[in-house]
Amino acid sequence: MFHFDNSYEELPDAFYEKVKPTPAEDPSFFITNRPLATELGVDPDVLFSDEGLAVLSGNQLPEESSSIAMAYMGHQFGYPTMLGDGRAILLGEQITPKGERYDIQLKGAGRTSFSRGGDGRAALGPMIREYLISEAMHALGVPTTRALAVVKTGQDVFRNHAEDGAILTRVAASHLRVGTFEWASATDNDVNALLDYAIKRHEPDLAEKEDRAYLFFDRVAARQAMLIAQWMALGFIHGVMNTDNMTISGETIDYGPCAFMDTFDPKTVYSSIDHFGRYRFENQGQIGVFNLNKLGEALSEQLDRNPEKAESKKAAVLAHYADAFEKNYFDLLGKKLGFQTLDSENTHLVTDFLALMYREKLDYTESFLRLTYGDRREDWSEDFKDFYALLVQTTGSEGEALRYRSNPAIIPKNYLVERAIREAEVGDASFLAEFLELLKDPFAHTEAQKALRDTPTIPLYKTYCGT
Ligand code: AMP
Ligand code: MG
Repeated sequence: MFHFDNSYEELPDAFYEKVKPTPAEDPSFFITNRPLATELGVDPDVLFSDEGLAVLSGNQLPEESSSIAMAYMGHQFGYPTMLGDGRAILLGEQITPKGERYDIQLKGAGRTSFSRGGDGRAALGPMIREYLISEAMHALGVPTTRALAVVKTGQDVFRNHAEDGAILTRVAASHLRVGTFEWASATDNDVNALLDYAIKRHEPDLAEKEDRAYLFFDRVAARQAMLIAQWMALGFIHGVMNTDNMTISGETIDYGPCAFMDTFDPKTVYSSIDHFGRYRFENQGQIGVFNLNKLGEALSEQLDRNPEKAESKKAAVLAHYADAFEKNYFDLLGKKLGFQTLDSENTHLVTDFLALMYREKLDYTESFLRLTYGDRREDWSEDFKDFYALLVQTTGSEGEALRYRSNPAIIPKNYLVERAIREAEVGDASFLAEFLELLKDPFAHTEAQKALRDTPTIPLYKTYCGT
């Protein structure tokens, strides 16, 4: 079924725990991703048969399975904590027909030695949410872990009340995190071995380079500078950017309290536990600096034996990150307005438009669509009309085409996400299926996608972690 090659076990034993998934009582498929199975080189007819169900529910380990929970720590809301996979179990590393390597992980597969007080399980609603938003992010062109399937376990989990239990099969370029390096460094485990492993997995061309730690760190930072800029250009708020939720691969991971911003306000927070707004929309670039600084600290000895030199190399990487993030974010916003490049003449239009949306309390995604389609003028303010006229004049027909390519017709809007989950939880998954289909090509601008533009904003919307 799979074609596994498990390299993570080459690391010293302390880096993981060998653990088997806890069997599920009465498993059934809930969502299946056939195109992704095919991309991975797994026959969807086999994977989504009874034989595959036994594997994706944790009832049967496939041949050559690895079955491990990884050790890591994390700075959560600024404070360090020992974590590790408390409910996720790596089945193995799938080698695709193109020779790429992807972790196949069951999330919600039962307790491990890292579970602390948790039940090791996951509820159906949040796993649907992760499936939906991660697959949408992929289609929006954002690096992300992906979702191969959601399986119901046939057992209840208890959150505020009894809910259906579920397991999501997550696919990732790797599950190495900033927190994995922090863990190795804080516990005096072999940071060098981890660095070698991460380089072999993500930057093989750096393996023999003298300054490999610096070059590696710089590339991780460059990927985060692009990733967070992409999030923000889409109005995405990750919501829990702890260091255990920042990958080395540059993929978005952990779709707990994330959400796409409705009304544009840089201070927007949806996460129910983010009381001080640490992970608010506008702070995400800065949190990248905090997290990368932690990676730099963990890699200090590898960066340079001399602590002062190590510190200055770390500072250089953080400076590259800050510059790149700013540039990427503005470039992407420029494209959304229809500018191929930004210069001293047009950069102010980006900030002008953000200010206009803020002042008029406009919906973020919808406002860019209005600039793209030029429609719904009956609702435009005088300022909006003036802005549009100036934009059309300065960007021409090329600008219009660029706006179509840069502004999605549809995103996982909070109202629609909630509707899809709520209906699916009580047995009607038809809207979920329709929504997933419309999210597959968000830049197609079809009539069916446009038909969902008018959905409302949920007042005081809240999202939740670790569900
Ligand atoms: P997250 O908020 O998903 O990033 O999770 C933070 C930590 O809590 C990770 O170590 C998870 O493995 C762990 N965790 C979250 N939910 C559970 C659960 N239901 N049972 C055990 N561990 C959990
Ligand atoms: Mg996490």
